[in-house]
Amino acid sequence: MQPELKIIGGGLAGCEAAWQAAERNIHVQLFEMRPEKMTGAHQSAWLGELVCSNSLGSKLRENGSGLLFHEMKDLNSVICRVAEQSAVPAGSALAVDRHVFAETLTDLIATHPNIEIIREEITQIPNTPAIIASGPLTSPALATSLAAFHGKENLFFYDAIAPIITADSIDMTIAVRGSRYGKGEDNAGDYINCPMDQATYTHFVEQLATAEQIHLKSFEHEIENGVNAGPAKFFEGCLPIEIMARRDAATLAYGPLRPVGLRKLFKGDAPFAIVQLRQDDLTHHAYNMVGFQTNLTYPEQKRVFRLIPGLEQAKFIRYGQMHRNTFLCAPSLVNQTLQTKKAAWLFFAGQIIGVEGYLGNAASGLIAGINASRQLKGDSLLAFPRECMTGALCSYIANADCETFQPMKANLGLLPPLQFRIRDKQERKAALANRALRAFRNYATMNNAYH
Ligand SMILES: Cc1cc2nc3c(=O)[nH]c(=O)nc-3n(C[C@H](O)[C@H](O)[C@H](O)COP(=O)(O)OP(=O)(O)OC[C@H]3O[C@@H](n4cnc5c(N)ncnc54)[C@H](O)[C@@H]3O)c2cc1C
Repeated sequence: MQPELKIIGGGLAGCEAAWQAAERNIHVQLFEMRPEKMTGAHQSAWLGELVCSNSLGSKLRENGSGLLFHEMKDLNSVICRVAEQSAVPAGSALAVDRHVFAETLTDLIATHPNIEIIREEITQIPNTPAIIASGPLTSPALATSLAAFHGKENLFFYDAIAPIITADSIDMTIAVRGSRYGKGEDNAGDYINCPMDQATYTHFVEQLATAEQIHLKSFEHEIENGVNAGPAKFFEGCLPIEIMARRDAATLAYGPLRPVGLRKLFKGDAPFAIVQLRQDDLTHHAYNMVGFQTNLTYPEQKRVFRLIPGLEQAKFIRYGQMHRNTFLCAPSLVNQTLQTKKAAWLFFAGQIIGVEGYLGNAASGLIAGINASRQLKGDSLLAFPRECMTGALCSYIANADCETFQPMKANLGLLPPLQFRIRDKQERKAALANRALRAFRNYATMNNAYH
């Protein structure tokens, strides 16, 4: 009889896990609660819906997510395949048309002969072979069951998403197309850049820092003083832009509004700061405000963001918002194979165990899917070496200090240092990437990971 695997959650991690298991001749039941029960952020019934940014990170292998992308492609990743098919121009980043991405992915998963999609909320951890990949917006009933299983309280914090505006509302007599350091696919440049002189920047930051926020009831105080992301105060990767503005007047000019690699796009005086907008769909209709995750009220977003030169008439397709993000303390829950320490039949993947970033989440699904399949077949489980990005990420999830555990995205800092010194930063990154891909492929070949 064909072995069976239940996967809870049809997001990036769950779809990748389902694909990997199905390709290994496991019969997969993929449970997705949407559209019967929606989350606070998803808007459709599509599997693999990208809820915020349409960028899956860098394509360059000398970068954490780019390296992960190359490793995952080697193992027949469905997320990578679909991302390439639905890519939009975004310089060295892998950005996709979110609708094409989700539709194509749903189609591939739904038509796989070994996958059965079941539209149902799961409220209890299954007691047969399973992968939990229910994401940052895990339904409350399942979260309660997870907390009981893990024996510890779920950790939770708030995260923020950036606004999207229409392309035709951007004043292109002020804004200029171009990519940082000229690295782009489109000759005219993949981003739209809005320049600010120092006086405009100062006024903008003052208005941003004092603008009205949405009242978040009991959690408002936590957001002001640090959100509950474990013992650390803020999760820095997705900080609301108004909180950055309040920290110091210069923070944004060194952060998301930094003009480096873009100044030459503008004639005359070099801009003091630059706001970047990234294409969000294949029709060039929608642009995402890069780094503008926010919790301002909608009228305040309109007022303050329209102070940006070129965006005076901006039309908002979607305003920025805050949302809940639930994750478990993974190091005490799973080992590097993403199998739980308590139950051999149970695996976890995705943001629910503190993986951060679209590709990282898909990569954890890939490992959980392969390992759950191997467990079902009686094969040894795979723990990729720390020298490659897949191994480094899983190793962090399994071995980080629980007291300081924070969600983590793929980055070169997770890799062990080289055994020899290379002064040049780019050459050092290239050497790390070469070593990673060698280690990945050697391990995959030696351990028959491809089947
Ligand atoms: C509002 C918001 C904005 C974000 N912005 C970004 C961003 O810009 N860039 C980025 O890299 N990451 C972002 N993230 C994080 C993002 O969620 C992850 O990178 C990625 O989507 C996580 O993949 P996942 O598969 O773990 O979870 P998801 O993609 O969320 O998939 C989990 C799935 O499980 C389903 N589900 C939940 N509970 C149940 C249940 N009990 N039974 C059945 N199904 C269930 C959900 O409906 C969902 O489809 C954001 C998250 C949120 C919530």
